[in-house]
Amino acid sequence: MAHTELYDVLGVSRNASDNEIKRAYRKLAKEFHPDKNPHAGDRFKEISFAYEVLSDERKRDTYDRYGLDGLQGGGTGTGPMGYDILSQIFNMCGGPHRGPRKGEDTIHPLRVSLEDLYNGKTTKLQLRRNVPCRTCNGKGSKSGMLLTCKGCSGRGFKVAHHQISPRMTQEFQMKCGDCNGEGQVINKKDKCTQCQGRKIIEELKVLQVDVEKGAHDGDRIVFHGEGDRQPGIEPGNVVIILQETGTHPTFRRSGNDLLMKYQIPLTEAICGVNLVIKHLDGRNLFVKNPPGTVIQPDMVMEVPNEGMPIKRSFEKGDLLIQFIVDFPKSYFAPDPQIKIIESLLPPRPKTVIPKDAEDVDLNEYTESQGSATSGGSGSGEAYDEDDGPGMRAGLQCAQQ
Ligand SMILES: [Zn+2]
Ligand SMILES: [Zn+2]
Repeated sequence: MAHTELYDVLGVSRNASDNEIKRAYRKLAKEFHPDKNPHAGDRFKEISFAYEVLSDERKRDTYDRYGLDGLQGGGTGTGPMGYDILSQIFNMCGGPHRGPRKGEDTIHPLRVSLEDLYNGKTTKLQLRRNVPCRTCNGKGSKSGMLLTCKGCSGRGFKVAHHQISPRMTQEFQMKCGDCNGEGQVINKKDKCTQCQGRKIIEELKVLQVDVEKGAHDGDRIVFHGEGDRQPGIEPGNVVIILQETGTHPTFRRSGNDLLMKYQIPLTEAICGVNLVIKHLDGRNLFVKNPPGTVIQPDMVMEVPNEGMPIKRSFEKGDLLIQFIVDFPKSYFAPDPQIKIIESLLPPRPKTVIPKDAEDVDLNEYTESQGSATSGGSGSGEAYDEDDGPGMRAGLQCAQQ
């Protein structure tokens, strides 16, 4: 019999490469990390253990040949620690009693836009799930008869030994693989043709998901007991995880606030802004600053209560607008008119010029001029990642 439970935990095939295993582990470990997901403790242990075994060539080989039994007794270095984890995650009989067995949760991502999170949304989601076979009523056999498992004499578990030292052996019970711990098996000819004796079949289930106004990226919506069902096991939950996708052309969310950047000409910065913003629910907001007020470059102004709705309240965050001030280009007006502007603006400071002052040129500086001698186009990346070393490397390059 092929052993697959550890591969199944990581969702990879039995002939997955080391890289595939590593990638699958990283992805799952992130998703089920206890810091992020306090209810996924057991799942996380399971994932860690599967990776511990499958990422080690020797342990993986042992597991492929002998399954989990081999890992415990075969002196592969999986000490009592390993056993402890095993007993907890694979429901081994020797472990502490953990109440009724419960089906695994089905995790399902739901992609939503910023508009969806602002306005709320109801959507239908079609999922596949396992339910007890109706043809055989979840018995798995045509006759309803079950035979006692020979592998475990109907006990559902086998006794295994774990050698701690040459003189000390730990004895424990583990689930019988022949009958999957049920103690009973079905005669080949008597297997239900609908489910092939598996007792369960797959069905499609449509769930109506309500995304609340003000919901956040990563929020979880739980449908209790709507997951996989198996005879004798408490049904698992369906867990929908909201995933905000795409970037909105105008708004970015920060907690309950919405942020936006808005470019204005110097004229509006000084003489008053008139701005119409199309909000996430389609409303047009007319924003204006009082006459006489000046907007400084990069200044952030707030529009109260026009941010994101706050879940389960009637309140909203704020809308924050950062103004990017666009100065006019050189020579935008003839000299006499520049003099008129100067007469309206606050007076310039008096500069005392010493007699021995030298006349020097003042030119516009651009990045391409500065790094012209270094030549490489790759140096730009270094700047993006880390100002410090990248900057030094660029300068050294330029000096050579
Ligand atoms: Zn059936
Ligand atoms: Zn058995």
